Amino acid sequence: MLLTACLRRCARLLHWIPVTIVIMVVMWSYYAYVVHFCWILLSCSTQRVVFLCLFHVCFGMFSWSFWKTLSTPPSSPSVEFQLSSSDLLLYEQERGGMEKSQILLEISQKLSVHTRTAAGAIRFCHHCQLIKPDRCHHCSVCQMCVLKMDHHCPWLNNCIGFSNYKYFMLFLLYLLLYCLLIVATVTPTFIQLWLGKLFDSCVKLHVLFLTLVSAMFAVTLCFLLLFHIWLLASNKTTLEWLSVPFFVDGPASEAFDVGVRANFLQVFGKNKSLWPFPVFSSQGDGQSFPLRWLMSSHSPSVMNGNGHCAMEGSQWMTSSNEIRLTERVM
Ligand SMILES: [Zn+2]
Ligand SMILES: [Zn+2]
Repeated sequence: MLLTACLRRCARLLHWIPVTIVIMVVMWSYYAYVVHFCWILLSCSTQRVVFLCLFHVCFGMFSWSFWKTLSTPPSSPSVEFQLSSSDLLLYEQERGGMEKSQILLEISQKLSVHTRTAAGAIRFCHHCQLIKPDRCHHCSVCQMCVLKMDHHCPWLNNCIGFSNYKYFMLFLLYLLLYCLLIVATVTPTFIQLWLGKLFDSCVKLHVLFLTLVSAMFAVTLCFLLLFHIWLLASNKTTLEWLSVPFFVDGPASEAFDVGVRANFLQVFGKNKSLWPFPVFSSQGDGQSFPLRWLMSSHSPSVMNGNGHCAMEGSQWMTSSNEIRLTERVM
């Protein structure tokens, strides 16, 4: 028991290694830019002040969103999704899979749950002993069910989901701006160093590495940010992109896509003044989401493997800019 606890603690400590590496790289980039580039290399004081001001705005916003993404705990489903002790006893006493599925189906009637397993059953987490809300997944690293789980990020040692997806998007954006600013301002000096016009070897090494590392990060971040902008615009999580969510009648890849503007507002909220800042402004509770079901002839994307419309028997109802599903009573 003691050995297992020790091993678990060691594993938890190991998860912080990538975060420590990121923090050390950022601290070094700060030191290289401010001390070696701005104070030692730049001779024009106006240029120095302008560069330092811009740099500190980017650095401040990046550090703030980085900290918020890192420190915001993932949201877990509310207690109503948890099986009561009597329901759990009943569920565990049943031997057959069909009977177990029937018990979960009956319990889920009072919950707003639309997603299913590939076999059509109610999604149940055996670790947390709860019925998974739509878009919720169990994270084996965090050992909990995470609402609207996007992915577990090892570089932040945290799950990216409903509670911190806005912070994560801002973190990517400000980190990209931080890298681009360094590349844009240091490149002329980098060229001079490359041509051998400046000779301080220590300064040279810091500035050369700073430019190369920032350019490398900027290219990678550009692709990552574009990918997440596409996910945000189509209202998908990384997990839903990898594995299409299933519903009663089959898979539906664009089930949560309610239009680019509405998708953006779900994450960033309606208050425009809060959009640039890593403060919580997302809409909803992370447990239920507006659904988009298209009529059979309009939606090739909701076709299931048999070529039939996955959402036949459903229709659209639009009310106060929100599209909700109405299922026909069978
Ligand atoms: Zn779980
Ligand atoms: Zn996680």
